[in-house]
Amino acid sequence: MSNRIAVIGTGYVGLVSGTCFAESGHKVLCVDIDAQKVEKLRHAEMPIYEPGLEHLLARNIKEERLTFTTELEEAVINCNVLFLCLPTPPGGDGAADLNFVLKAAGEIGRLMVKNNIDEPRIIVNKSTVPVGTAAKVGKVLKEAAPDKDTIVVSNPEFLREGFAVEDFMKPERVIIGTENDYARDIMRDLYEPFVRSGNPIYFMDEKSAEVSKYAANSFLAMKITFMNDLAAYCEEVGADIENVRTSIGSDSRIGKRFLFAGIGYGGSCFPKDVKALIHSADSCGTPLKIMNAVEEVNKFQTERFFKRIEKRFTSLKGKHLAVWGLAFKPNTDDVREAPAYKIIDKLLEAGASVAAYDPEAVENTRKIYGDRIAFLKRDEVLKDADALVICTEWTEFRKPDFDVMKSDMKQHIIFDGRNLYDLASMAETGFEYYSIGRASITND
Ligand code: NAD
Repeated sequence: MSNRIAVIGTGYVGLVSGTCFAESGHKVLCVDIDAQKVEKLRHAEMPIYEPGLEHLLARNIKEERLTFTTELEEAVINCNVLFLCLPTPPGGDGAADLNFVLKAAGEIGRLMVKNNIDEPRIIVNKSTVPVGTAAKVGKVLKEAAPDKDTIVVSNPEFLREGFAVEDFMKPERVIIGTENDYARDIMRDLYEPFVRSGNPIYFMDEKSAEVSKYAANSFLAMKITFMNDLAAYCEEVGADIENVRTSIGSDSRIGKRFLFAGIGYGGSCFPKDVKALIHSADSCGTPLKIMNAVEEVNKFQTERFFKRIEKRFTSLKGKHLAVWGLAFKPNTDDVREAPAYKIIDKLLEAGASVAAYDPEAVENTRKIYGDRIAFLKRDEVLKDADALVICTEWTEFRKPDFDVMKSDMKQHIIFDGRNLYDLASMAETGFEYYSIGRASITND
């Protein structure tokens, strides 16, 4: 009998995973506790912005391979593989909060007993979770359903928002943490359609799979942070971080990606995953000193950028700032831990007013800031602004008409947190221009 898949939690990871499994021919049932979201999805309405997902979603709903429910029970009865794609936010002490995952596991166990299900259920942890979570999930399941056949697999997800469909459809690697042969064969079967070009599926124990995910995100956060730290040094000694980036990036041992200096990493993954790894390492007596430094430098990076804005104006009271970019990175509407918010908070605190624009993240931002900031079109935010602050590197910000901008803005000042523009060209525009790890153009 072919596998029947359930995806529990239809956020960025769950919705993409469910849709892509359906696209590969499986029947997929997606479960979410958010009834409004489920209703929208039933009508193929997108609850998030993710390029390329919308038409796959519509097609698979139409072909009746993809269905949505709020009832976990339906999934437990009908599906033999249940993917947990649930939030694992940071708790107060930085540790990953496993409540969503453990509660769902307990509920699955209880529903197996209630419905007398004797066929095995494979519970796949796709959420990012600390080492030892597969064992905890297994324990919760055994307590809830001692006589039922449950197998827990750790299958961390590496998709990037903005490229999530591509990443899921053609993963560079798939990680399956299980020592159970039956589960291993099923997992291989589910992922085979996505690795036809020869990319590997690595099988390993559950703990190594769990650590692999935190190690990957922490390493990338560290790479970005190294460049941010170096950027401050470059400013001081008169070097240009962009030249340094291209020089070291062409060394294949280092690689070109994740070397862009900016205003610090944000998003729904790096900040919380770095915190969770630090907490996990601390609590078993092997602190990861390097990751503590990464966190500290990342925090400082946003502050450093804000301080430069503040210093330029002496006082921000009564100043009006335009902000381009709210999402934590381009090609997503995700604003969790967005560096832009940290800058905006500080600007407001200092008495400035803010008008902001983002191609996709305005609705999510409005929910947080309400009318404390103005939301306008890209060119309208510049009207009478004392400065433009660029927080996200959306492609549409790369080639603006600087003459038109000058005619709209009150003062001709740009603080570019993403190094979008070439210094030599900026010198000709007449703008004062401050970026990261490079000389400032002050027009003095
Ligand atoms: P999300 O917040 O976008 O989605 C979570 C979904 O789960 C929401 O729709 C929520 O309503 C639903 N939910 C909560 N409790 C539920 C329950 N009991 N039953 C059913 N649904 C429930 O989260 P996300 O960004 O998709 O992340 C999920 C996990 O995947 C996290 O652990 C995250 O770290 C990890 N991850 C995320 C990404 C990413 O780029 N977003 C990438 C890789 C891994």
